[in-house]
Amino acid sequence: MQKGEQLYEGKAKKVFLTENPDVLIVSYKDDATAFNGQKKGTIVGKGAINNRMTNHLFQIIEEEGVPTHYVQELNDRETAVRRVEIVPLEVIVRNIAAGSFSKRLGVPEGQELSEPTIEFSYKNDKLGDPLINSYFARALKLATPSEIETIKKYAFMVNDILKIEYLKAGLQLVDFKIEFGRFHGKIILADEISPDTCRLWDVESGEKMDKDRFRRDLGNVEEAYIEVARRMGITIGEE
Ligand code: UDP
Repeated sequence: MQKGEQLYEGKAKKVFLTENPDVLIVSYKDDATAFNGQKKGTIVGKGAINNRMTNHLFQIIEEEGVPTHYVQELNDRETAVRRVEIVPLEVIVRNIAAGSFSKRLGVPEGQELSEPTIEFSYKNDKLGDPLINSYFARALKLATPSEIETIKKYAFMVNDILKIEYLKAGLQLVDFKIEFGRFHGKIILADEISPDTCRLWDVESGEKMDKDRFRRDLGNVEEAYIEVARRMGITIGEE
C-alpha cells in the first residue's frame, strides 16, 4: 500500500491518502491532549499501543457483527482504514458514573448505573463538543433518524463486547467514546478504541488505567498504557 499526501492532522493522529480512493492510512501519534486541547503533553509509546489495541478490538467487534473501518495493520503506528465521512457525533456509553456525568448530575464517581446509558456530543472543537440529544442531531441534520437508530444499536453492542474483553484483562469498563462514519451509505465504526477513549479501572484495586492519569496528573501514565496492552496480549515492536 502506497502512503500518499497527508490529508489531515488531528490531535492524536495523522491521516494520509493512498492509491485507493476508498482507503486511508492513519498514523497514531504519542501526543496527548485534554480539556479540549488546553492541556498538552506526550505519552511515550501511546501511538503504537492505541494503534494495536484499536485494531485488536475492531477485529473482534467486526466478528461480532458491527461493521468497522479496519482494513489492515501496516506497522506499529499505522493502519489502513476505509475512508468514511465522519458523523459529527461523539457517542458516549457509560456503565459506571464518572467524569462529566458525575459532575453534571451530582452522582459520585464509581456508582454503578442500573443500566448502560448513551449520550451524544456535537463534534465541534470551537464549541467544546456540547452535549446534545438525538432530536438536536436530527434537527441539525447531523444524522438521519435511521442512522441514529443504527448508531445506538451498534454502540450498545460495542459496550457488551468491550466489557467482556476488558474484564478478561482484569479491567472494568467504566465508560467510553466512539465515533461512526458513512461508507458507501452505510454506518460503520471508525476512529479508535483505546485507553485515550475509555475509562478502565483495575478490577482488584480500582486503580485508574487510562487517560485520566494524564488529565488528573496521577503519574505513571506510560506505565498504565503499557500494562493495559500487556494484559490484553498486545505486543509492540513487531513490524
Ligand atoms: N472521551 C473521549 N474524548 C472526548 C471526551 C470524552 O474519548 O473528547 C471519553 C473519556 O475518555 C471517557 C468518556 O469519553 O472514557 C466519557 O467522558 P466524559 O464525558 O466523562 O468527559 P470528561 O470527564 O473526560 O471530560
